[in-house]
Formats: sequence, C-alpha cells, structure tokens
Amino acid sequence: MANLHFHYGTMGCSKSALLVINAYNQNKNDNKTEIIKPKIDNRFSEDKVTSRIGISAPATVISTLQDWSPAPDTKMVLIDEIQFFNPSDIDRLVHIADSRPIIIMCYGLMVDSNEHIFPAARRLIEVGAKLHRMESTCQIPGCMRLATHHLRFDSTGNVIREGEQISIGDSNYKSVCRQHFNMFYRGNGKAGR
Ligand SMILES: [Zn+2]
Repeated sequence: MANLHFHYGTMGCSKSALLVINAYNQNKNDNKTEIIKPKIDNRFSEDKVTSRIGISAPATVISTLQDWSPAPDTKMVLIDEIQFFNPSDIDRLVHIADSRPIIIMCYGLMVDSNEHIFPAARRLIEVGAKLHRMESTCQIPGCMRLATHHLRFDSTGNVIREGEQISIGDSNYKSVCRQHFNMFYRGNGKAGR
C-alpha cells in the first residue's frame, strides 16, 4: 500500500468528512492516528476538523511541518487543508513516510479560484503521492457535470479574478465544472449567489 496519499477535490466534496471517518475507523482498529491542520496567517483556527455534515474530530493546529514528527506509536497521520502548507512541508512528509512504518493521508484542494494549482498540491504530485479524486457536481443550478474548478464572488455576485489563492471561509465560493468556470471567469461573469 502506498504510504503517502492525496485526496483532492473541490470545496464541498466531503473531504473533511472522509478524513474524520478514516480516523475513526483506524482508531476502532486500535491504530493510533494524529490529525493535523494548518495555522493560517496567525488567524484563529479551531483545534478540530469539522465537516459540513456535522461530524468532527480533534486536530493539532500547526503552521509548519518542518519541526514536527508524529508520535512513535502513530500509525496514520491525516492532514486537512494540505494546500495551505508549503512544498517544503510536503518534502518533510516524504521523509517521514519513507523512514518509518506510517501512512500519511493528505486532504485538500488541487486548484485555486484562478485555475492555478496550489504549490503543495503540485509537490504532492511531483513526489508520487497516490492521488484520489473526490467527485462532486457543479453548484450552478441545473448543472450535473463534475466540479473541478472554483469561482470566487464579491458581495454583489461578480467573479473575482485576482487576489488570494483561497481566502478563509467558503461562503463566497462555488465549486463548478470547467465549462461554467470558463463561462463566468472568462466571460462577463455574474453567476448569482
Ligand atoms: Zn456546471
């Protein structure tokens, strides 16, 4: 079995729910787990991973993985929002995964709302992480195509085409298919909210 995994998908595709369920199942089998999430820009981060469907699990919030090591008896590490870590943090995970018997599960986004790959996601691909695409459908009403992109909107419903890769909180985002991304991002861009 691969020891480094990347579960990726758009916002709202149940990544956090899968993380919590995977941790629960390992713990039930007496495999010790650790859940990690990034501390971003010194903003407050709740010390748990919470899914929109209402399940959660305690997590350790850290800003960098450089000086971090899992406990000696940990069998699986689960990392939420991996896109907010740096490529060098991914290299740290590779070192851990390749030097001890442990499975590292990363969960996060592949592309930002400008259709650019996150540096940490790119590094995961480069180092050969096993990729698992989590699928959900486009959030434009009536569309059933695969959601692969994110659109970011301002308060009046206009598409934002610059700025932060992903800001915190997802109320101003929609996960959309490629066709709708191109229609709104490269067209004249109002998509309602
Ligand atoms: Zn669509």
